[in-house]
Amino acid sequence: MAPLLKVEDLTVTFEVSGRQSPVIQDLSFEIGEGEVLGVVGESGCGKSITALAILGLVPAPPGRITGGRILFDGEDLVAAGEKRLQQIRGNSISMVFQEPMTSLNPVFTVGEQIAETVRSHYGVGKREARDRAIEMLRRVGIPSPERRVDNYPHQMSGGMRQRVMIAIALVCEPKLLIADEPTTALDVTVQAQIFDLFQDLREQMGTAIMLITHDIGVISQIAHYTMVMYAGRRIEGGRTADVIRNPLHPYTSGLISCIPHLRRTGDMAFEPLYEIKGIVPPVSALARPGCHFAARCSKAMEQCLTLAPADTEGKDGHDVACWLFEQVDA
Ligand code: SF4
Repeated sequence: MAPLLKVEDLTVTFEVSGRQSPVIQDLSFEIGEGEVLGVVGESGCGKSITALAILGLVPAPPGRITGGRILFDGEDLVAAGEKRLQQIRGNSISMVFQEPMTSLNPVFTVGEQIAETVRSHYGVGKREARDRAIEMLRRVGIPSPERRVDNYPHQMSGGMRQRVMIAIALVCEPKLLIADEPTTALDVTVQAQIFDLFQDLREQMGTAIMLITHDIGVISQIAHYTMVMYAGRRIEGGRTADVIRNPLHPYTSGLISCIPHLRRTGDMAFEPLYEIKGIVPPVSALARPGCHFAARCSKAMEQCLTLAPADTEGKDGHDVACWLFEQVDA
């Protein structure tokens, strides 16, 4: 069966100081119906721009899609016009953003905001839209939805506001939900509740989910497949269990080592938290040749500085782009 979403060789370029920089370069991945793909990487690795490209929302200028295809249900979204993209956004593909307080409008009740989405996509009357808003609040686990529907965002907790954002995203029963760091602003208990909610809704509605996060621990709980991005490129991907148990790329290994754990060393002191030294290269440096991770990589070789490693596919579709694994291709 063809995947629901198939991104092929996507390239997004930003103009910075008069120069073209590829913030996303030859990115390929796919998501099947009802599957969860975790997209992981530090801030500035191109995860959110990938999501915006799928929705046709890359800010232009300075950005534009300069290569590749985004096939959704067989239709190329790169070639689609704005009118068609407006039909798809919120209807077939929805997005949940990081910070619900800035995404919700403070001067409208949460019920009005959910109902507005229903009315604009289905053209139903006010009464029916309100009933659907109440039903959706119930499905995302908001207690007393008949009362809460008339709350303003500031009258709700952070966890409840994020549930409202999920209700808005799912009220039109999209085939694909893109969740961009949906729990970053929430404490760990609410975070666990939100992921349980995603699982329930995926099972009930068959929604595919693209979960974007910088936290590989989160990915391990929910994603079937994982794609690791660095400086706008896919550097590793495969089944989540394979990527986490057997990371191939030095960057993926570093991300996994960064997960905090409470292990004591011999003298009863806690182990210090691991960090990947250095920072993600700025957009202006992305046009340079070579592996963009080379400046931070303890295994870098001479060729890493001048030649970008190709993507190499290994066992069970577990792929990596690193010169250490080029021999797999031979
Ligand atoms: Fe390190 Fe070279 Fe692999 Fe890049 S290609 S991750 S610099 S070993």
